[in-house]
Amino acid sequence: MTIGASLQFHGAAGEVTGSCTLLTTPKARILVDFGMFQGTPADEARNAIPPQLDFGSLDAIIVTHAHIDHCGRLAMATDLGFKGKIYCTTATHELLGRVMRSSARLQRARFYERSSGTAPWSRALMPGEAPGPAPEFPPAQRLFDAPEVRDTMDCIESVPLDREVKIAPLVSLVFRNAGHIPGAASAEVSIGVGAARKIVLFSGDLGPERSALLAPPHRPARADVVVVESTNGERRRDPGSDPDEKLAEIVADAARRKAKVIVPCFALGRAQLLVHRLARLNSRGLLHGLNVYVDSPMAVHGIESLYRHPEYLSPELCETVRAGGAPLWFPELHYILSKRESMAIDRMVHGGIILAGSGFMDAGPVMRHLEESIDREDCIVVLSGYQPDGGFAWKMQRGADRAQFNGKTVKIRASSVRVEGLSGHADQDDLVKWFSTFGEKPGRVVINHGIDTARAALAGRLLSELSIESTMPKPLEIIEL
Ligand SMILES: [Zn+2]
Repeated sequence: MTIGASLQFHGAAGEVTGSCTLLTTPKARILVDFGMFQGTPADEARNAIPPQLDFGSLDAIIVTHAHIDHCGRLAMATDLGFKGKIYCTTATHELLGRVMRSSARLQRARFYERSSGTAPWSRALMPGEAPGPAPEFPPAQRLFDAPEVRDTMDCIESVPLDREVKIAPLVSLVFRNAGHIPGAASAEVSIGVGAARKIVLFSGDLGPERSALLAPPHRPARADVVVVESTNGERRRDPGSDPDEKLAEIVADAARRKAKVIVPCFALGRAQLLVHRLARLNSRGLLHGLNVYVDSPMAVHGIESLYRHPEYLSPELCETVRAGGAPLWFPELHYILSKRESMAIDRMVHGGIILAGSGFMDAGPVMRHLEESIDREDCIVVLSGYQPDGGFAWKMQRGADRAQFNGKTVKIRASSVRVEGLSGHADQDDLVKWFSTFGEKPGRVVINHGIDTARAALAGRLLSELSIESTMPKPLEIIEL
C-alpha cells in the first residue's frame, strides 16, 4: 500500500527524548512534536543544533503533550522561520506557556550560574568512592527566551479532544486521549478526501491501560499507518505490586518516627498520580495526619488542569469532578508556590511528605531538600521509575553512603525505599492490547521513541501475537508510505 506520503525522524529514533517527526504529503509538510534531547551533557548539546529541515516550508506543527522531550524546542521554531500554526489540545495549550516560560527561566539561571561559576552541584558517593571536585559543566545554552515564547504562543491553536480540524491542504487532524498526562493526546492525521482518505496515527506517549487516576488511552479503530512510542516496550508491570500498599507502609513508618519523606517526582504525570494516591490513603485513614507539600508550581498547574479538563480523568473520577467533587484534595495537602516557602518547609516538616522535582534528582528543589535532610535518620527518600545510570538516585538505590553538595561531603543516614507501578507510560502488555483493538490491521507500523532493545521487544511481540510487522527507523531515515 502506498499513500504518497513520507515520514522522517529528526529525533527519538532509537532513544526516548527529542521527539520530532516530519510528515510530508503531496501538498503539505507537518512536524509532529519538537522536543528536547535530555540526559547527558552531550545529549543536551544536540538541542542547539536545529533539525535539518526547512521550517519556513512547514504548514503546521502538532504537539502531542507538554512534556519537555516532546515540546521543549517549540519556542525555537519561529526563529527558525516557522510561520504556520501549532496545534495541541486545549489542556496542553494551557500548560505549554508555563512549560516554555519555566524552561526559558531555567536556561537564564543556568547561563548566569555557569558563566559566574556558581552552578550548584551534587553527587552521591558509593562506599570507598573518594569525593571529587565540581563537575565540568558544559557551556550553558540559551535556546530561547521570553520573546520567543510569546511569538510561539501566538501561533497556537488549541483543539478539544475528538474534534476534527483542517490543518493544511487536504490534511485534517483529530486529537484522541492518550491517557499519559493531563492534555496528552495521540494525533490522528487524515490525508486526502473521500474513499482515498488515509489515516496516519501518531500515538504520542501512551498511558497505561489501567491507571488509578487517568482515563485509558483511546482505542483506535483504524489507521493506515501507526507511529507508536515504545518507552516501556520491553517492560511488563508486576501485577503483584501494589503501590498503594507500599506507600501506606512508608507513611505509617514516617508517622511513627515523625520522619520527613522526600519524594522526587516529575511535575506533570507522576506528581498528580502521587497526590491522588495519597488522597486515597487519607480517605482510608492511612495518612495519619501527615502534611503533604507539593513543591512545584508546575505540578500544581497539572492538578488544576485535571479539574478544568476532567475528561482526562478515569470515568469514575471524571464523574466525581463533574458533580463538584475534588478527588485530588485533602485537608493536609499544601501547595508550595515560591522558593521562600520551599526553603521554609525544610525546617517545618517533621512527619510530613514533600513531593518535589526533579524526578531524576539532578536539579531543582528536591536537591535542596536532600541537602537539608539526607544526613538524618528520620528522613526517607522514595524512589520510583527509571533513573539514569550513575546518577544520584541510581547510586542511592545501590547503597551510596555519602553525598556531596557543592563540595561539602555529608554522610547519608536517610533510608531510601523504592515504589514500583507508578509509571505514566504504557508497558509492553498495554501496547499490545492497544494494537489489538484495531478493527483491521494497520498497513504499516513504525516504532519510535524507545531504545533499540525496547523497540525490538515490542516488534517481536506484535509479530508473534498479532502478526503485525513493524519498522524501526534510524535517525533521519525517510520512510515512504
Ligand atoms: Zn511524556
